[in-house]
Amino acid sequence: MRVLSVNPGSSSLKTTLLDGDEILADHEIPLEDSVTGMRKVLSALSMWSHKSPPQAIGVRVVHGGRAFQDSVRVDPTVLSVLEKLLPLAPLHIPIAIRVLSALTGMEQSLPVVAVFDTQFHRTLPETARRYALPDEWEKNEGVEKYGFHGLSYDDVVHRLPGFLGGALPERLVAVHWGNGASACALLRGRSVETSMGFTPLDGLVMGTRPGSIDPGIFPALLRRGYSPEALEEALNHRSGLFALSGGVSDFREIEKRLEQKDARAVLAFEKAVLSVAMTVGAYAPLLGGLEALVLTGGIGEHSWRAREAVMERLAFLGVRSDPESNRSGTGDRRVSGEGSRVSVWALHAREDRTIARETERILGGTEKEIHKSGGVNA
Ligand code: ADP
Repeated sequence: MRVLSVNPGSSSLKTTLLDGDEILADHEIPLEDSVTGMRKVLSALSMWSHKSPPQAIGVRVVHGGRAFQDSVRVDPTVLSVLEKLLPLAPLHIPIAIRVLSALTGMEQSLPVVAVFDTQFHRTLPETARRYALPDEWEKNEGVEKYGFHGLSYDDVVHRLPGFLGGALPERLVAVHWGNGASACALLRGRSVETSMGFTPLDGLVMGTRPGSIDPGIFPALLRRGYSPEALEEALNHRSGLFALSGGVSDFREIEKRLEQKDARAVLAFEKAVLSVAMTVGAYAPLLGGLEALVLTGGIGEHSWRAREAVMERLAFLGVRSDPESNRSGTGDRRVSGEGSRVSVWALHAREDRTIARETERILGGTEKEIHKSGGVNA
């Protein structure tokens, strides 16, 4: 089935036309505010006149809350449920609603499927899902760990066996390390722990988001007169590497400044690397060991320095890098050395493939694939 995968970001829409795993076309288009604008943008893709037009559209939605535990074909009821989830992800859901409304409202509508980043983590056990917070917050407010980057982790689980030439490792940690970053502990292909939580702010140090911090900071600042909106803005747009480095969130620029021995860039780099290494280290006992580590996302895939620093910190687990492959190799590859007890992989993040696969599954009514390792892919 030819599926147009649509991945809405904060300022643009990434669209990829896939036939199975093959990419037929891709475009990145700026986001316009109104639904009418969205329609214009989508027509401009000229997807209806393409030689091999899409037969269905799959759209990434960051948060599915408790309501959406699986991908779903979009209809007006789905849109109205999604609207109720707005308070959970005020920065992400409005754009998803705009895109989905535009796509389902078009005259020559194709079937549209919403694929949620949170759905991969529905296998989280209670110990991971439940925060040590009052019952009523969990029951009435839906305060629990949802986890994100599920489309990326889903694709790792599908592709890694091919690279290994065997079954998926039972004890695997994947780190999606881009501008946003999270880690996921995977036991037989199922998410059993992940670093992002109720929102995508928790866990690792990110481009402009802080990762784990003391929640006591917020009531203190609220009492001093900061508004919830001001806190949200600072936590989403002015924290993380940006705050540590003195205004730079782009990792390539941080690396340039490292070479100039800029002290703040060193601090930002070190704290980001430590947050990744400490999280992977913490997941090893949870999984009962570690067989493989996948680094993906813009930094995980492209920065040899970041990978090397993480592998050095994980030497106590028997991780050994292959400097040649890590520094000079390109593309999807193993970056750990022969003697490494953990195989480490740098993989290109392919959320579009998960979107296409899920869209085809939902529309074709096929069952989820069972992995050779015995785990059901979530
Ligand atoms: P997101 O999808 O979360 O916006 P990406 O996965 O595209 O982010 O990752 C963006 C990050 O990856 C940026 O910090 C960017 O600097 C970094 N990055 C991209 N290419 C490279 C590279 N060649 N070397 C180091 N960092 C890189």
